[in-house]
Amino acid sequence: MNGKVYLVGAGPGDPELLTVKALRILRGAGAVLYDALVSDEILALIGPQAERIDVGKRCGPKLLTQEEINALLVSLAQSGQIVVRLKGGDPSLFGRGGEEIAALRDAGVGFEIVPGITAAAGAAAVAGISLTHRHVASQVLFTSIHRGATNHAIQWGGLSSETTVVLYMPGPDYAHVAAQFLDAGWPAETPCAIVSHATTGKQQIRITRLAKLPFEKALRSPALMIVGSVVAGEAVSLAGRFWATAGLAESTNCLAEAAEESLGN
Ligand code: SAH
Repeated sequence: MNGKVYLVGAGPGDPELLTVKALRILRGAGAVLYDALVSDEILALIGPQAERIDVGKRCGPKLLTQEEINALLVSLAQSGQIVVRLKGGDPSLFGRGGEEIAALRDAGVGFEIVPGITAAAGAAAVAGISLTHRHVASQVLFTSIHRGATNHAIQWGGLSSETTVVLYMPGPDYAHVAAQFLDAGWPAETPCAIVSHATTGKQQIRITRLAKLPFEKALRSPALMIVGSVVAGEAVSLAGRFWATAGLAESTNCLAEAAEESLGN
């Protein structure tokens, strides 16, 4: 009997931002393969019966190659297991979900994608930013800075001033990031928010402008940038108040209890 693979989005960190569906599937899984970006509070929600496999590869040597992860997903499912591939944010954004979907399709393994709240939405929320705005921003671009030789850099200058750009994985070289925009003709006064560890107890928010971006101290990864007119100067840091560690722990317990109830335990 074939099992099934669920590609599940864990959201940006706060366990309360996990979907009810993701929680239900996590509680019932036979095996969970998770990334470094998935928070401990969310890992605590995995059912006790599940085999947990850390396939995180941030900082340091890779634990498993992408090909090995693909093969593991296929073999676990073929052995009849309900497998969860748990990824930070949404599984379809910058998470190699496409490669895993292709491997599952090729192997004829049934799968389902359970969307999650992507980091852009989490970061915008905690920084008090609306990614679109009727008067200043009619579209949003989720992208990342490419640095490799095969440079697929987007045409920054071709974007209208009504675009909000969300930069995933901006890296620590903020001068390089600022240059990409400024060289393409973006105004130096364009506001920019840097949000690190959004929706977690380690959250940090900086509001700056492209002209000053090169002089900002790099925030710790994971971090992203929101660039555009929607980034209001007075956006406030909600850290501490809403996302204090105590609050996270409390909400984790509530979620675990809710899950037990829904499973009839
Ligand atoms: N699938 C994920 C993105 C994975 S790429 C999603 O939909 O969110 C990893 C990048 O996401 C990080 O380098 C960072 O740019 C961003 N990111 C993930 N979690 C974040 C968080 N809590 N706060 C800020 N940025 C985050």
